[in-house]
Amino acid sequence: MYSPAHDCSVKVNALTDLHACRQCPRLATFLQAIKNHHPDYHAQPVEAFGDRTAKLLIVGLAPGMHGANRTGRPFTGDYAGILLYQTLHKFGLATHAESVSAQDDLQLLGCRITNAVKCLPPDNKPVLQEIKQCNTFLEAELNEFIQSGGMAILALGTVAHQAVLMALQRKPGLYRFAHGAVHELNADSGLKLYDSYHCSRYNTQTKRLTTEMFEQVFTHIVKDLRNPSS
Ligand code: SF4
Repeated sequence: MYSPAHDCSVKVNALTDLHACRQCPRLATFLQAIKNHHPDYHAQPVEAFGDRTAKLLIVGLAPGMHGANRTGRPFTGDYAGILLYQTLHKFGLATHAESVSAQDDLQLLGCRITNAVKCLPPDNKPVLQEIKQCNTFLEAELNEFIQSGGMAILALGTVAHQAVLMALQRKPGLYRFAHGAVHELNADSGLKLYDSYHCSRYNTQTKRLTTEMFEQVFTHIVKDLRNPSS
């Protein structure tokens, strides 16, 4: 059974230092090079976005080069956010069907979005050490989410799935990633981990992930949130 770490207030407070984090040398160097070429890009760690008392926390992989890394908001400004925000809006979890910039008036309703790794990695591929290093921040976010009554965690892809398990100190062998899988994390509270293929351009254009498949995952989540004892 998961219970938040005893020093979770310290861990949550650690999130206030996220914007200044440079603990991964490869990523810090990469972001600096991008900032030099694109001074208008965010090119820093990207903070979570959405409702702080959310019942649903969505965990992606990492910021995209011209999406979150440019705009400073997860899944905002590039292809990966199209299906995600359309779906959130369809299920009543967002006020608009698209997210174009951190300055628009989009609000998430009972939902929050973050990434397993907060800085853009080269080729969208963080190395294991970077995933581990950034897991402190994900753990703090999960602690905050669970403490404020969060019930559903949606992992977009295997890296996010494994990062969530790492942050919650769970054995990955007991919770295998599969699209559409639902893993019970706490039978008492009803906390569950849901899996989906990542809504990336590659996955959606190759039909590895269709709109129907993605919506089926959200149908399951919303149904469970409405009937937490089911
Ligand atoms: S990926 Fe995470 S731990 Fe690494 S530098 Fe960025 S914010 Fe810090």
